[in-house]
Amino acid sequence: MYAIEPGPALLVNDNVNMRIDAVLKDAVAGLAAVSDSARLDAEILLCRSIDMPRSYLFAHPDDELDDASIDRFNALLQRRLGGEPMAYIMGTREFWSRELLVSPATLVPRPETELLVDLALREIPRKAEWQILDLGTGSGAIAIAIAGERRMCHLTAVDISAAALAVATENARQLSLDNITFTLGNWTEPVSDRRFRVIVSNPPYVRADDQALQSLRYEPRDALVSGADGLDAIRTLAATSGALLDDEGVLLLEHGAEQRDEVAAILAGCGWTGITGYKDFAGNPRVTVARKGGK
Ligand code: GLN
Repeated sequence: MYAIEPGPALLVNDNVNMRIDAVLKDAVAGLAAVSDSARLDAEILLCRSIDMPRSYLFAHPDDELDDASIDRFNALLQRRLGGEPMAYIMGTREFWSRELLVSPATLVPRPETELLVDLALREIPRKAEWQILDLGTGSGAIAIAIAGERRMCHLTAVDISAAALAVATENARQLSLDNITFTLGNWTEPVSDRRFRVIVSNPPYVRADDQALQSLRYEPRDALVSGADGLDAIRTLAATSGALLDDEGVLLLEHGAEQRDEVAAILAGCGWTGITGYKDFAGNPRVTVARKGGK
């Protein structure tokens, strides 16, 4: 006779049948260490594993999960426990009430970026037929949100990453938006002969030595980091985007919570006027609006 040693502690023991409520409870306890939304994450991952809507979990807490479902759930759980964002595990993220595809080639769209969209829409009358430029579009979140709200405008969305543009293009296709053109290139370079009424950008703005990068390690570094003080891309945009704007044109830039004054100084140094900072829903300065001149 011999004793069977217990295996390494799995969050979910797949040797016995397990009820939905028990599996969720264990998973939530484990996820609490890496996630502010442990229960929601666990529920979403379990739903993916059993291909059921979330309502099923509440209606059938005593359902026993089969081994294949447990294996699928464990695999997803391990990724989340390793710090991978839910958006990459699921392949989507909601932004401006639309479900967008994301991939590790794109930043995960953030809720605070909806402020940039909101401010841009305030600048664009409902029936405007303007040319609008989004620089560093990533998953296309900002351009897609504006294009959806202003169907008579034409959006040009530029990114230096072909892989990101592929995601953005697919997002626009799935949402049946035909008023966006995606263009590969470095900031303003591919559109330097064009003119726009509004330019928006959520550029990389994290400092190269920012400790926060540790928890952002799954996201593309080039989409996050911009030099020692995080302001290199914003300096480039402040210096180059004015030449592409109509005389009444406006530039809207997202930036870090501590960068408002520096961003304002950079913009003023490049001759921008009417420079105004706006706070996001968390109360952090997040977007600065600047005009080309005279206002
Ligand atoms: N808002 C992101 C973060 O700090 C950074 C995004 C960016 O650099 N554009 O998590």
